[in-house]
Amino acid sequence: MAKLFGTQELYHGLGSLAELKNISGKKAVIVTGGNSVKANGSLGRVEAILDELNIEHINFGGVEADPSINTVRKGAKVFEAFQPDWIIGLGGCSAIDAAKAMWAIYEHPTLTFEEMTKIGGIPPLRAKARFAAIPSTSGTGTEVTALAVITDTDTHVKYPLVSYELLPDISIIDGELCMSMPKNVTANTGLDALTHSVEAYVSNIDDNYADAFAKGGIELVFNNLKEVVANPTNAAARQNMHDASCLGGYAFTNAWLGIVHSIAHQMGGVFGIPHGCANAIVLPSVIRYNAKSTERYNDLAKIVGATDAEGFASAIEALRTEVGVISCVKEFGIAEDVWMANVKEMAAHAMADACTGFNPRITTVEDLEKIFIACYNGDKVNF
Ligand SMILES: [Zn+2]
Repeated sequence: MAKLFGTQELYHGLGSLAELKNISGKKAVIVTGGNSVKANGSLGRVEAILDELNIEHINFGGVEADPSINTVRKGAKVFEAFQPDWIIGLGGCSAIDAAKAMWAIYEHPTLTFEEMTKIGGIPPLRAKARFAAIPSTSGTGTEVTALAVITDTDTHVKYPLVSYELLPDISIIDGELCMSMPKNVTANTGLDALTHSVEAYVSNIDDNYADAFAKGGIELVFNNLKEVVANPTNAAARQNMHDASCLGGYAFTNAWLGIVHSIAHQMGGVFGIPHGCANAIVLPSVIRYNAKSTERYNDLAKIVGATDAEGFASAIEALRTEVGVISCVKEFGIAEDVWMANVKEMAAHAMADACTGFNPRITTVEDLEKIFIACYNGDKVNF
């Protein structure tokens, strides 16, 4: 028996931002990142809807990429003073993830960061406020996931907060908000969305519903990512990629991820390689590695006109090149000796990553070390 996790209410399609009119309340805080939501008019549109609803509102802006616990605490103080009954995360995944964590502290002011990082460490929310997620990038699917990634200010280590309490009440998937996303962000985040669907499909949790979301997400990425990178203002393709990201989110919040993410988390934390780019480098290697113990990639190969895991991995490599994403760590400009000096420690941390337990092939630290090494020059994994 299983429960399908996701958001309470989901609106999707071009122009669906207008559906924010369905909320009712008294006070809202809109949490945003940089200036893009101001510049592209979406913040103004959200504020206009709240004005019409007679919901008093303030904006907590300036959430940084890879948001820190310090920023989260600052936001929670602002919430405490304003007493909102709606939290609206608007923008990239950093703004929405930070808003989720601020919400948890607003509801439980004595909650420590250490408690929050424990699985199930977040007590029930919604005594004070509900949560709306309105993403403007198409990658993490945070609008439908039980996850928020927050960085420890002192150690610079990224921690995933994992709790089904963090699932938003309302999610709005409007591709119009993504029209001004830069090309490299579009490509990286799109390949992150692809990785979520692939890892969820092959994970050791069998779930027909997550499988359907995953296959749908993969098909949309292969049919739309190239187009949207070449023609960023193609609204239909933007919406399709936004849907792909959300479907990937549904897939992995129900069936979880695998060692692509365990490895990519280290590449991001230690070397600052953007998350989607790190996933794109690692994914083909892990497909070849995992294919030794699962035939599940054969199903996914059919979506791209291939027959087996090798064909599927090659199709991903071709897509990666076509959208202008690098194929190995060396191309990121990291010296080989510096990379090699870090491999052992990164492999040990990747082994301890929560995602490793859901990988379809039982993994060892030695295997992870070999994958880290292969990813430096983009060598084909064959063990
Ligand atoms: Zn990811």
